[in-house]
Amino acid sequence: MTAGRAIVVGAGIGGLTAALALARKGLAVTVLEQAPEFGEVGAGIQVSPNASRVLVELGLESALLDLAFVPEAVERRTWRRGHRLVHLPLGHEVARRHGAPYLHLHRADLHEVLAAAALATPGIETHLGAACASVEQDADGVTAIDAGGRRFAGDLLVGADGIRSVVREALFGPAAPRFTGCVAWRGVVPADAVREAHVRPVAANWMGPGAHFVHYYLRRGALVNFVAVVEKTGWETESWTERGGKSELRADFAGWHPTVQGLIEAADPDACFKWALHDRDPLPRWTEGRVTLLGDACHPTLPFMAQGACMAIEDAAVLAECVASEAAVPAALAGYEGLRRSRTAGIQRGSRANATLYHLRGPKAWLRNATLPLAAGRLAKRTDALYAYDAFAAAKGA
Ligand SMILES: Cc1cc2nc3c(=O)[nH]c(=O)nc-3n(C[C@H](O)[C@H](O)[C@H](O)COP(=O)(O)OP(=O)(O)OC[C@H]3O[C@@H](n4cnc5c(N)ncnc54)[C@H](O)[C@@H]3O)c2cc1C
Repeated sequence: MTAGRAIVVGAGIGGLTAALALARKGLAVTVLEQAPEFGEVGAGIQVSPNASRVLVELGLESALLDLAFVPEAVERRTWRRGHRLVHLPLGHEVARRHGAPYLHLHRADLHEVLAAAALATPGIETHLGAACASVEQDADGVTAIDAGGRRFAGDLLVGADGIRSVVREALFGPAAPRFTGCVAWRGVVPADAVREAHVRPVAANWMGPGAHFVHYYLRRGALVNFVAVVEKTGWETESWTERGGKSELRADFAGWHPTVQGLIEAADPDACFKWALHDRDPLPRWTEGRVTLLGDACHPTLPFMAQGACMAIEDAAVLAECVASEAAVPAALAGYEGLRRSRTAGIQRGSRANATLYHLRGPKAWLRNATLPLAAGRLAKRTDALYAYDAFAAAKGA
């Protein structure tokens, strides 16, 4: 199918990438976004080569490199003394091996680059303030109906509307996501404010009892982003605009390494946000006729492999290839789902397992710390395989 119209519900990272990838295959695309304006939260995101490869192919490499920080390595350390347990090179090494860079980006920057590209693409029409409320389909087409009763017709519809997807609910009925028992604090601090904290130019993960603390640079090193995850019950709000008290954050990480303390101290008390982490079990299927799902709408993924958005970006490329190479829409969408289900389910499960690994206590933590350095070779191989995935080739080889 090289002509026709796709409706994409949701203009997040996944929806916008899908719109660009589908338009590149000659489809007209209608994007519906519930928010009145484009935007993303003020936090960081890691984009590994398996996903940056797609963004490079879409012509966004130089715009992203201008805004990114390219980390030297991934490191894992112990929470208090800071013993380094894992060091996996990223930077030039990974870019050379995989032909695509590992990027640390401000979410707002990534979103802006995608939105600007979508707005500049003649085949993409975007409707802001258009909250999809229901979906109708028959043998000839599909229609999204927004909360105001406006109807948007097309040949296929992609629900890229996040973990609480209305499109998913329209296909498979209501099902609340699961609270994981973990809360994520996040903050962005100016690098100048944390010179004395000796923040290394890496994707760092400090692992402690019942918590872990991730930080990395953004915007060519001008900012440091942190995500501090702690096991907590009794609070389950999912909103980056929920302010948490800095004293609570301090208490959550009391006694941690000076680098962690330095970042927390530098955080603006009015900009310490917390987010209850939810996920779902992998879905047995996510396509029905002319309607399919993409990104968090079908495989919400905990951030413990930094792969949720990367999976959404991969989805977008595979979807576009399948739609372009198969004339019948239902067969194309079923083909896309078939190519994506097992990979995304594996990442969902791996991310969950990392929560357990990162938060071990007592003798189990001791054992982890003793064995992780010995497993470096295995870890490097696994990471390499994850980054080597080429979404375009995966779809073409099907
Ligand atoms: C703390 C944290 C750190 C993370 N770090 C990373 C990382 O480093 N790397 C990584 O790859 N992933 C990371 N992730 C995961 C990543 O953020 C998500 O997987 C990704 O944002 C999903 O993108 P999406 O486009 O599928 O959904 P979303 O980002 O949720 O976008 C959905 C869009 O749909 C819109 N929408 C919703 N309902 C409707 C409707 N009814 N009608 C119209 N529009 C609608 C929303 O307004 C939104 O714009 C992290 C997640 C968290 C919580």
